[in-house]
Amino acid sequence: MILIDGKSTSLQIQEEIKARVELRAGDGHKKPHLAAIIVGDNPASRAYVGHKIKACERVGFESTLVELSESVQEEQLLMEVEALNNDESIDGFIVQLPLPDHIDDQKVLEAVRPDKDVDGFHPVNAGNLSLGLPGFQPATPSGIIELLKRYEIETSGKHAVVIGRSAIVGTPMTLLLSRNANPGNCTVTLCHSRTQNLEEITRTADILIAAIGRPHFVTKSMIKPGAVIIDVGINRIPDPSRKSGSRLTGDVDFEGASEVAGSITPVPGGVGPMTIAMLLRNTLEATERPV
Ligand code: NDP
Repeated sequence: MILIDGKSTSLQIQEEIKARVELRAGDGHKKPHLAAIIVGDNPASRAYVGHKIKACERVGFESTLVELSESVQEEQLLMEVEALNNDESIDGFIVQLPLPDHIDDQKVLEAVRPDKDVDGFHPVNAGNLSLGLPGFQPATPSGIIELLKRYEIETSGKHAVVIGRSAIVGTPMTLLLSRNANPGNCTVTLCHSRTQNLEEITRTADILIAAIGRPHFVTKSMIKPGAVIIDVGINRIPDPSRKSGSRLTGDVDFEGASEVAGSITPVPGGVGPMTIAMLLRNTLEATERPV
């Protein structure tokens, strides 16, 4: 069984990005600049943004954090987005999700200038992805593609099963796996909460991607021997043995799955760090875009 190490792969990519930034600095280019808007005090969101800012420092990017209170009005948030759209020193920015209930996420995401939308959530970038045109790709599925590539996992002609159809993970994942590219050329089945006979389907998967948000949902019996298992889930579960009283775990029962899988990503240390690396890569691309 091969452990697909997203943490070390992410660090390797960050080293490559850092080298590129230094090379560009030598040619007189400014540092790439990523901004993030965070609304409220959700601890998970704060942790994710914190990781992204730290990664910016590691690779030599500038970063700006715009912190807004939980009670911020949608109009004010849209003004902050517009300010970042118009700030030419900012190459790309993200609005950390989820947003409070009184704010329309979609309206905010659509306000981001597509050429600064390094999360790839704007309909223009989502449309480009579905048409196979250049644009920013969402970081999590593109991080998975990068892992498949760097681990030289054969995808052509394979049956990939994706569980979860969200706009940020499952749906773009199916597009990337099915396109005529390497990695790609999979025959893809997209499963969701209404899928019937899920276990029968997953047992036919050469590549199984779990993006559900339910701890240990994918068990050993759902896996074809030798399959590649990619666990996107990040779930906090109680763990009295930890000082914090909890720990993070994936959508896959890692121990059971490891007994049958050919290769598998751990949680933490799998897809999560790759998401950050791909966000940095998108920001570097935003910096290098033709003016
Ligand atoms: P969503 O809640 O948006 O989507 C979950 C999907 O899982 C839905 O399509 C849902 O189906 C499906 N689902 C739920 N229950 C079942 C079931 N019993 N059987 C089959 N399908 C089911 O989640 P996200 O895509 O945003 O995130 C998924 C997980 O990935 C979460 O744990 C999240 O924290 C994590 N995540 C990790 C990232 C990383 O960097 N590693 C980045 C983003 C997310 P339906 O559409 O029918 O409701």
